[in-house]
Amino acid sequence: MDIIERYQPEFVTRHATLSETCSCPACRRGSEGWPQASVHLATQLRESLDPGCESVARELLLNPQAFALHISQGEVQDAVQFTAWDEMLNQQCINLAVHPALSLEVSLYALGVLLSKAQQYLDDDNRDPALLMSMGEQLAQLAEHGVLEEQLAMLPPIKENGLAALKAMGAMRLNLNLPMVEKMSVMLKLSELGIMPTSRLSERLEELQGGLQRCALLTGQPYILRNVLIYRLYHDVFPGVGCENYGAAMFSLAQDFFQLKMLLAIAMGEEQTLAEDKLITLFSAWYSWRQVNPMQVDAQNSADYSLLCGLSLL
Ligand SMILES: [Zn+2]
Repeated sequence: MDIIERYQPEFVTRHATLSETCSCPACRRGSEGWPQASVHLATQLRESLDPGCESVARELLLNPQAFALHISQGEVQDAVQFTAWDEMLNQQCINLAVHPALSLEVSLYALGVLLSKAQQYLDDDNRDPALLMSMGEQLAQLAEHGVLEEQLAMLPPIKENGLAALKAMGAMRLNLNLPMVEKMSVMLKLSELGIMPTSRLSERLEELQGGLQRCALLTGQPYILRNVLIYRLYHDVFPGVGCENYGAAMFSLAQDFFQLKMLLAIAMGEEQTLAEDKLITLFSAWYSWRQVNPMQVDAQNSADYSLLCGLSLL
């Protein structure tokens, strides 16, 4: 058998040392092996867990070192083919996600720029991983000079996309592990979005965006949402093994962050922050919902168009 690298992030290590058995809703109905969710690739094994389990979500979100990697050797088992191109693209995405000079939104924007260029190479059937490495390095330089931040600020807003994404959240059905009154309140506020007239929806979007700005938990601990991004890149091998439509992948990633941030703002309401326990419950429930309700991509749309739609949600 071939020897490969085996990665174990700190959140997996710490979860393994928990002494109490988790009794969150997902664990109560979890089948054998839950919440194990390792990713077997031809050249590496990425140990991972499903944050639909609340104790996994806690280790994943609340530790700034959640992705400190422990590396050892492993053996290949039922591995998914992993081309040098896909591996390099995923690595460059991770590099941009952990770049210390970038805010979360600018990291996402940088991923969009990288993917747009990668799509051009792919469409020209030019799959040399060195091209991606050089693009990643150029973006890192632009990031250090604040250029990406300026570019993001100059993107023309496409408000309709944000409104459509918010309206669609009216259809979210979350299995929230909260006291009944709190659960009903969040669910009602979500349902309302589906039936609000556009003018009211537009005000609501601004209210929620304002709420996020003052949320002490998210502004004081920026690694929480950053860890969500790294998880998506690491666990889903973003933009995906064998993925050919990077625009759609970017749209889906941007929509994830839009939904998650709006959900947290909805649950926060008029408060100045969100309790950690509530954050964990909301994230876990949202993650599980998202797994069974993936974004539907309109096949008519070009990769470039999807990518722009994604950037408009940042
Ligand atoms: Zn659990």
